[in-house]
Amino acid sequence: MLNFSTKTAIVTGGSRGIGKEISLILAQNNFNVVAVATSEKSLDSVRDIKNIHPFCCDISDEKSIEELYEFVISKFGHADVLVNNAGIHMDNILLRMKSEEWNQVMNVNLNGPFHLTKTVLKDMVKNKNGRIINISSISGTDGNKGQGNYAASKGGLLALTKSLAKEVGRRNITVNCIAPGLIETDMTSHLSDTVKQGYLDRIPLKKLGKPKDIGQMILFLCSDEASYITGQTFYIDGGMSLN
Ligand code: NAP
Repeated sequence: MLNFSTKTAIVTGGSRGIGKEISLILAQNNFNVVAVATSEKSLDSVRDIKNIHPFCCDISDEKSIEELYEFVISKFGHADVLVNNAGIHMDNILLRMKSEEWNQVMNVNLNGPFHLTKTVLKDMVKNKNGRIINISSISGTDGNKGQGNYAASKGGLLALTKSLAKEVGRRNITVNCIAPGLIETDMTSHLSDTVKQGYLDRIPLKKLGKPKDIGQMILFLCSDEASYITGQTFYIDGGMSLN
């Protein structure tokens, strides 16, 4: 049984899917969770949950990130944990991909984590304490047809994780990455049965993942038991990346 004293976590994309589950699991384990999403309506899904504090912020906008951190400081003084989970995809083959599709995905999936991590990191360094967890994807290591922008952003997160882990280890801050496979959320709900079956054929465990599969790993990475783990990427994909 893992035990947690009260700490503060920021979870981006905390209103739906994987991020919502991460927020719920951390909140159930004594964390004050600042759950971030782009709209108040989306945040209604976590508004009345004990220990969850919804905050509306577009992580692709630096000013919005500043406002988010001001909220965190005013309420909790600092953040102990940052989970860079929010992500989008705008799929297209590269020959047809518009600059806007490239830029928007980069702005949310990679530039957002860069700006938010930099903002939160200053106090983590001062306090000599922090856990940063980036949610990447197996697309970031393996690539995926029609997802050049998404895969590049997620590959960037993997590289950022390792680089930052080397920079801030001496400050007692760990930086790790999770690479989910196919998880049942809004992001994957549009996939046709044929496409899903194609993935299932490649997954040794023969089932899709659930948001809680990611949430439990996040909880472990936030625990004292994980204090000697940094710079790592954990594949939670039912074995899909083995193929
Ligand atoms: P999801 O169900 O589509 O939810 C995305 C979340 O991100 C929502 O809470 C959304 O908030 C938030 N978000 C989007 N753009 C944002 C922005 N600019 N600023 C702040 N929040 C923003 O996604 P998911 O499936 O849970 O995926 C979560 C993460 O896991 C993503 O990074 C995704 O790339 C990664 N991942 C997912 C899978 C999968 O199979 N599902 C596989 C590999 C990796 P709003 O409600 O306000 O839009």
